Amino acid sequence: ITAVARRYCDKRRQEWLKLRIDKYLYSMRFSDETLLEIMSRFRRELEKGLSQDTNPTATVKMLPTFVRSIPDGTEKGDFIALDLGGSNFRILRVKVSHEKKQTVQMETEIYDTPEDIIHGSGTRLFDHVAECLGDFMEKHKIKDKKLPVGFTFSFPCAQTKLDEGILLTWTKRFKASGVEGMDVVKLLNKAIKKRGVRFTDIMAVVNDTVGTMMTCGFDDHRCEVGIIIGTGTNACYMEEMRHIELVEGDEGRMCINTEWGAFGDDGMLEDIRTDFDRDIDRGSLNPGKQLFEKMVSGMYMGELVRLILVKMAREGLLFEGRITPELLTKGKFETKHISAIEKSKEGLSKAKEILARLGVEPSADDCIAVQHVCAIVSFRSASLVAATLAAILTRLKDNKHVPRLKTTVGIDGSLYKMHPQYARRLHKTVRRLVPECDVRFLLSESGSGKGAAMVTAWAYRLCGDAQQ
Ligand code: BGC
Ligand code: MG
Repeated sequence: ITAVARRYCDKRRQEWLKLRIDKYLYSMRFSDETLLEIMSRFRRELEKGLSQDTNPTATVKMLPTFVRSIPDGTEKGDFIALDLGGSNFRILRVKVSHEKKQTVQMETEIYDTPEDIIHGSGTRLFDHVAECLGDFMEKHKIKDKKLPVGFTFSFPCAQTKLDEGILLTWTKRFKASGVEGMDVVKLLNKAIKKRGVRFTDIMAVVNDTVGTMMTCGFDDHRCEVGIIIGTGTNACYMEEMRHIELVEGDEGRMCINTEWGAFGDDGMLEDIRTDFDRDIDRGSLNPGKQLFEKMVSGMYMGELVRLILVKMAREGLLFEGRITPELLTKGKFETKHISAIEKSKEGLSKAKEILARLGVEPSADDCIAVQHVCAIVSFRSASLVAATLAAILTRLKDNKHVPRLKTTVGIDGSLYKMHPQYARRLHKTVRRLVPECDVRFLLSESGSGKGAAMVTAWAYRLCGDAQQ
């Protein structure tokens, strides 16, 4: 009986602790009503970005990608894909073959992108990329093969064709000089030529969301949305050409890179941003930009939790008011720690370990409290993504004039993949916000790179067709 009673008391105490934190962080917890409001605001942003008159002042840029169809299963060939801008810089060789069933074979290498390179000059950055490419071709003995190259470049780029990408602005951890406003395909080609490597030029530059959608489209032809929830966040989807005023032509569809990370840069999210969000923004490489991304993505979530813990400790609500130099150090609490702490079984012992490393000697109650803070911050992220995704889904549904939409969303990104509860919460919230959509979520393994190869294959086929 005493054991039962103790468990009962523990449970009540936990509930009480959580309630207290819920109250403390009430501005980070959204009702469905708020989420529906965010959803309709984002829906208006989509329309603003698509129309010619309002596009110049739109914060959600709705960039045409010149990818007009999802893979149709006839693509084949041997390609190289570069994948720059996610949590890893990767080079892949992708062989798409076509006997009976289409199959994909991949070889991958991961390369370092040291801070002095991503924050140095653009020339140096692209020299580094070209050097890694040279290394890859040597290692895989394809130096004289002249394989076509696809380039996944995970930043906002303006395109007027598939093999051009003018970098609008750096995001996330990147800030190399002299690249913004330039065509990254040209810069990369130049760096490659300089090294004396000879092979087919870059065939296509694609955003990682587009790569993800294409890869999932390979397995599921219904896939018409691609999402990344990783270091950064973004989405693309298939829009009707007749609604894309920036591109000539009314037939068929084209993939639009929404660049939803910039949602809120014009003040549209001020009512839901908190002082913690403003702090994060002030300390970032790109103040005032990517405000939605800063509330959602993996690059910032750990830091958000750290700022909350510092404030709570200062007010004596945690760690008996103890604050340590580690706790005060930017970057010491990472998003991967949130994922560890939110594991259902070992979460609390992970919390103890991680907090001990920050030197704060947590009590059992502290661990429970910190776990709950993590849950609120990651739940907020999943809810916000659910709201913007729901807006895209209703847009697709309206475009098709159907009462119910059946569709597939391709997803990739470290946060989505590594966090133990994120995917479930996101799926559940989307289904609640848009009950009229049947959504299948498809995880795209190394989707962004593989997808670049798919687009390259597709572009290659087109140009092959044109030559015949
Ligand atoms: C970039 C997007 C990219 C996303 C996910 C954002 O910061 O602006 O282009 O798709 O990160 O990598
Ligand atoms: Mg048009």
